[in-house]
Amino acid sequence: MTRSERPLLRVGQGWDLHRLVAGGPLRLAGVDVPHDRESKGHSDGDVVLHAVTDAILGAIGAGDIGQHFSDSDPRWRGADSALFVAEATRLARERGYDLGNVDVTVLLERPKLAPHRDAMVAKLAEILAIPAGLVSLKAKTNEGLGPIGEGDAVAAMAVVGLVSPG
Ligand code: MG
Repeated sequence: MTRSERPLLRVGQGWDLHRLVAGGPLRLAGVDVPHDRESKGHSDGDVVLHAVTDAILGAIGAGDIGQHFSDSDPRWRGADSALFVAEATRLARERGYDLGNVDVTVLLERPKLAPHRDAMVAKLAEILAIPAGLVSLKAKTNEGLGPIGEGDAVAAMAVVGLVSPG
């Protein structure tokens, strides 16, 4: 028996970390969270959208975000990372997959994300064009340990499920 080239379900995971520098606001999941530090990056530095992009690309075996959107390409300087998610989603649809659900964990010492979580989930759902009920976003501190714990970095992990409608 041969395995299907297009299984009903595919899963991908993504991870991203950016340095935090003086400035603000802090862009996470397409939302500008008020903060006195911002994410340093070639694009808008949105670790959530970068992790989600890598998770979608991983699920379809299409490489990684750096391959599709090089950080030496002037087109992506200051770019809205929603563009990267949109392109990864387009590639998934081209291969016959719709987004099933997305689960994200943000690692950040401060500020507290609880007051912004609903807005971040709503924005991520809008960017992914799926109902908010299919989007989960959790936040954890790093217990004061390492660069994340000292407030010098923000990281995000994402897992996505892709489903083949038929
Ligand atoms: Mg990144």
